[in-house]
Amino acid sequence: MVVTFLIFEANFETIYNTIMKISKAFIPTLKEDPADAVIPSHKLMVRAGMIRMLSAGIYSFLPLGYKVIKKITKIIREEMDAIGGQEFHLPALNPKEIWEQTNRVEAFGDTMFHIKNRDYVLAPTHEEIMTYHAKGVLKSYKEMPQIWYQIQTKFRNEARPRSGVIRGRQFLMKDAYSFDSSWEGLDASYKLHDNAYRNIFDRCGIKYFIVGASSGAMGGSKSEEFMVKSDAGEDTVAHCESCGYAANVEVAQSKIDPVERHEESKEFYEISTPNIKSINELCEFLKIDERQTAKSRVYVFNNEPVLVLMSGNDDVNETKLESVLGCAVRPGHPDELKEITGADAGSIGPIGFKHKIIADLRLENANSLYSGANKNDFHIGGIDLKRDVPNIEYYDLRTVESGEACPKCGEKLEVFKAIELGHIFKLGTKYSESLGAMFLDENGKENPIIMGSYGIGVERVLACYIEQNYDERGILWDNNLGPYQIHLLGLNMKKDKVIETSEKIYATLSQNGYEVLFDDRKGVQAGFKFADADLIGLPLQVIVGERALKENMIEIKVRRTGERVKVNLDKVYDKVAELLK
Ligand code: ATP
Ligand code: MG
Repeated sequence: MVVTFLIFEANFETIYNTIMKISKAFIPTLKEDPADAVIPSHKLMVRAGMIRMLSAGIYSFLPLGYKVIKKITKIIREEMDAIGGQEFHLPALNPKEIWEQTNRVEAFGDTMFHIKNRDYVLAPTHEEIMTYHAKGVLKSYKEMPQIWYQIQTKFRNEARPRSGVIRGRQFLMKDAYSFDSSWEGLDASYKLHDNAYRNIFDRCGIKYFIVGASSGAMGGSKSEEFMVKSDAGEDTVAHCESCGYAANVEVAQSKIDPVERHEESKEFYEISTPNIKSINELCEFLKIDERQTAKSRVYVFNNEPVLVLMSGNDDVNETKLESVLGCAVRPGHPDELKEITGADAGSIGPIGFKHKIIADLRLENANSLYSGANKNDFHIGGIDLKRDVPNIEYYDLRTVESGEACPKCGEKLEVFKAIELGHIFKLGTKYSESLGAMFLDENGKENPIIMGSYGIGVERVLACYIEQNYDERGILWDNNLGPYQIHLLGLNMKKDKVIETSEKIYATLSQNGYEVLFDDRKGVQAGFKFADADLIGLPLQVIVGERALKENMIEIKVRRTGERVKVNLDKVYDKVAELLK
C-alpha cells in the first residue's frame, strides 16, 4: 500500500508555482562537484539543487528538478493525446503470477525486484498488466485500434547504477501500448508513435538519431531506438551524418575493400619468428603490410572450438559471430588454446587447424597471407586460403570503425557512445498469446491481439538535455524545458531603490505570465548570485544593480550566449519578450 501511494503522489500533475523567491525556496546549490558524479549532467543536477541521491541508483527530485520533469511529462502527454493515446495509471506492485505466465520473471532475472514473503514483484515495465486489462475487454476487431499509455515509476535492480538518473533503480517511464486487429493496423500505430516521439524530442530540444535495433528475445518484427550521442552512453553506434544511417556496432556494417590478391606463390612455407606475438610485431619483423596477415582467434561454441580469421588488426565482433553460429560464444582459455592448436595465442593459424574455421569476408580472395603455424615461434607465409584451407566459411565478422565508408551512401561513418532515450517496438502477439488476449475478427474467427510497445525514459530526457546543453559555469536551459524562464537578480537588496525596482519587475513579469525565479536574498554577494544564476542556467537573467539604476537602466544577460544588453526601465518587458522568442 505504502509503495503505490508514494508512486501516485510522485506522478500527480499539480498546478505549480510559476514564480518563486529564492529567499523562500529550497534550491540547495553547491559550489563543488559531488564526489560520486562522473558525467556532466549528474554533477550539474546535484550542484543546481535539482536532485539528491538517496541510495545507489535511487534519486529524490527536489522542487527545481521536479519542475523540469513536469515540463517533460506535459510535452509527452500532449503528444500522446494527439495520437489518440488514453492515459492509464497502473499499479507498480504486481502479482508475480502474471509475470510467470509470460516467462518474464526468468527473463528479467536479478533485474526484477521481488517483495519478500509475498508473491509480488515491482514492475520493471507493464506489457503484462496492459495485456491483462485488454483481455476479455477488447473482444472484437471493432474495438480496435487502441493506444493506452501511462507515465509511471518503474523498478529495475540495475547491476551498476551510475551516471545519475540515466540509469536508476527506480525511474519514470512513459510507456505506451497499442492494440490492433491487423498487422497493417500495427504498422499504422507504430508510425503514429514514431511521429509522436520525433515531436516530443524536438520540443524538448534534444538532438537525437534513430537506430534500427534487433528485436532479440522480446519477439516481434521491428524495433527502433531513439539515441543521443554521449560519452556516458552504454551503447556504441555507427552513424552517418550524411544520409542518417545508424546502427548499433553489434550489427553495423561498412563498405571496406577486400584484401587484394598478390602474385601467386607455389606453396606455403614456414618461417621462424622468435618471440613474435602480435600482428604489429609480425609486420615489423617481416617488413610487410598488415593486409598481408590473417589474425587467428579461437572461440568455443557448444563445447566446440572454432578458429576465426580476421584481416590484420580487424576486431572480431562477437555479436555477429554469435548470430553466425546461432549460439553464445566465448574466447578460448590459454590452456585450451594450447591443447586445441599445440601453440599459444600469437602463433595460431589455419594451416593444420583440425576444427571448424570461419573467416571475415575481407579475406575471401586473399592469398600470400602470413598467419601462425600452430607451433610457438613460427609463422607460415604464402597461404592462399582458397587453395590451402578449402572448407572455410566467409561472413561479415568485423567491428566497424570510425572513418570507414557508410554502407548506404559511402560517406564517412562516425562511431561513438550513445544513450537510449526511447524505444518503439512491434511486439506482435507474444503477450496476447501467453496471456490469452484474443479477439474475434470480421469472419468471427478468434485471433490474438496484435500489440506494440513504446517507451521513453523521462529522467533520461532531462539528463540528456543537460548533457547537450551546458558550459563550464552550468546548465543552459531553453524556454521549453527550463524550470523558469527568467532569473531576476536584485544585486544589493539592502538599497531601497534596488528592492523597489526588482519587486516591481518581479510583479509585472509574473502578471504577464512569465516564469520568474527572483534572487531577493539579502546579504548575499553579487558574485554568489551570478554564480548561482549561471549554474541554474535559466535562459534570461534580468539584473537590477545600483549603478545602472542611477541611469534608469537594468541589464539583461542571455545565459547561453553571454550577450548582455542595457535596457531602460520602461523597455524591460519589450526586451524580455524579444529575447525569449
Ligand atoms: P537500456 O538498454 O539503457 O538498459 P532498455 O533497453 O532496458 O534500456 P527499455 O526496456 O526499452 O530500456 O525501456 C524504455 C526506456 O526506459 C528506455 O529507452 C530508457 O529511456 C528508459 N530506461 C530504461 N532503463 C532505465 C533506467 N535504469 N534508468 C532510467 N531510464 C531507463
Ligand atoms: Mg535495461
